[in-house]
Amino acid sequence: MSVKKIAVLTSGGDAPGMNACIRAVYLAARNEGIDVIGFQHGYNGLLKRDYVEFAHKDIRNLIQRGGTVLYSARCEKFHKEEHRKKAASYLEELELDGLIVIGGNGSFKGAELLQQIWNKPVIGVPGTIDNDIAGTDYTIGYHTAIQTAVESIDKVRDTADAFERIFIVDVMGRDAGFIALNSAIAAGADHVVLPETFESAGDELVRILDKLDQRRKNHANSSHIIVITENLWPGGLNILCDSLQSETGVETRILTLGHVQRGGSPVWQDRILATKLGAYAVEMVMNNERGRMAGIRHRYPESVPLENSREDRKPLNHYSMSMLDKITLLG
Ligand code: ATP
Repeated sequence: MSVKKIAVLTSGGDAPGMNACIRAVYLAARNEGIDVIGFQHGYNGLLKRDYVEFAHKDIRNLIQRGGTVLYSARCEKFHKEEHRKKAASYLEELELDGLIVIGGNGSFKGAELLQQIWNKPVIGVPGTIDNDIAGTDYTIGYHTAIQTAVESIDKVRDTADAFERIFIVDVMGRDAGFIALNSAIAAGADHVVLPETFESAGDELVRILDKLDQRRKNHANSSHIIVITENLWPGGLNILCDSLQSETGVETRILTLGHVQRGGSPVWQDRILATKLGAYAVEMVMNNERGRMAGIRHRYPESVPLENSREDRKPLNHYSMSMLDKITLLG
């Protein structure tokens, strides 16, 4: 198949490294003499015919920039087939030979449905800080989000130690504990609460109090850092905070990291991942692959059916889980 012109868009939650991926798509495509346009605001740009034609000046100094120059957005209309059909006919009108969608699970579902009605390659590139996409070891933005969380936990521990407080640090991850687990390990937190192992508030509270007791036996200082995945505690973190304060008598505070985890300059791991996957996605278009994702396995890009990206819950690293109590925590 002769490829002359392709499009790229970023959709769903933005993630550091999306720009590095756009840059790689442009450079890899231009190297093959392929023109690249970028739809703005996710699938909205595709429906509103809102796009930019990339030139070399647009991608200079882009690899290190957080956010996405194409803007990201949710697009309710794309859930309806009539709108996806309009999008497909627009792609035809523009004489595009392929579409690369950088986004998360929802964006991939949209890509899969679009592929069913458009007969040119639609390729997904995993871009989300949550790392919750199956079929790829990592997603673009994940390493930067961990780095941001680790830096924040390091800082909050200084003040926790000074005042001998308990801090509950709420990190992102949606339904997955990747950011919580790895930021807790890397920052040497005392306890981590993960969706993958959470059973009930009662059981978890007993575990936390147990850890607090152990820590008091080992250390004079009663400061304590608990990392927890967002939206996990039933009724919200104020309930956990009040319970800990009343059970221990230690002042307890909540730190919600929130959207800072989505921002900032991507760390090297995300820049390299984004660059590899962007270049590989262009190869996949040239190979006329349909409805597939550019994933990464053992450091090499791999073509994976888009539907596999939603398979089961992606497991956390078993070794990291098994060493949690032994090595990292209560340090
Ligand atoms: P993140 O995980 O970082 O939030 P995401 O890609 O999963 O990213 P969503 O908000 O779930 O984010 O989806 C982004 C967009 O993808 C939606 O606004 C919509 O345009 C499209 N999309 C999601 N689900 C579907 C679906 N079932 N059918 C068609 N389009 C969809």
